[in-house]
Amino acid sequence: MTDAHAHHPPKLEIRIIPVTPLQQNTSMIWSTETMEGVFVDPGGEVDRLMAVAKDHGVKIVAVWLTHGHLDHAGAATAVSERTGCPIIGPHKDDQWLLDEIEAQGAKYGIRDGKNVKPDRYLREGDVLELAGNKFHVVHTPGHTPGHVVIYSKEGHLAFVGDVLFRGSIGRTDFPRGNHQQLIDSIVQKLWPLGSEMRFVPGHGPLSTFGQERQDNPYVADHVV
Ligand SMILES: [Zn+2]
Ligand SMILES: [Zn+2]
Repeated sequence: MTDAHAHHPPKLEIRIIPVTPLQQNTSMIWSTETMEGVFVDPGGEVDRLMAVAKDHGVKIVAVWLTHGHLDHAGAATAVSERTGCPIIGPHKDDQWLLDEIEAQGAKYGIRDGKNVKPDRYLREGDVLELAGNKFHVVHTPGHTPGHVVIYSKEGHLAFVGDVLFRGSIGRTDFPRGNHQQLIDSIVQKLWPLGSEMRFVPGHGPLSTFGQERQDNPYVADHVV
């Protein structure tokens, strides 16, 4: 006898919430089975984020960070304080940025940012879980040294932070940025995940790796 439910796709929902004056994409992903969810890159506006979680009946069980910039990590500590959840990521090579969030905040008009001490750093090959759904981690330095990308194979969805955008790539003119390293991260770590992989960038609209390989002026196949 076949169990019709044995191979059902992951029952995950996603909601993208632009926050901060930099319009950073905070994602809330949650399981519709357990109603447990995570915030990926909660950059600011903690009251709004918690209201969105409450509206959807989602219990936040973790914060996942792609990198240490304040527009991505600024509200991580506040979310953790309110929910008791752990902060996971980024790679430890971004701790120096997480230590600077409060000092940097004034420059960008993000005054509610707090410094972050993650409960767990992420490394290449790590696997995260949300209600039985697996998410994999690749280390993608270049924009920042400790940047990671978190993706779901089954869901064909990647959270790429500021590595890659629709038609563009991350800035590398910040301290410890490295342009060639960023290109290498994209071509060697992201492209092998498959052209059909959709991605949520840190800013702006969603796209797929295949689309960027076709026409992204920085990393299209005919350019690199
Ligand atoms: Zn950034
Ligand atoms: Zn950003």
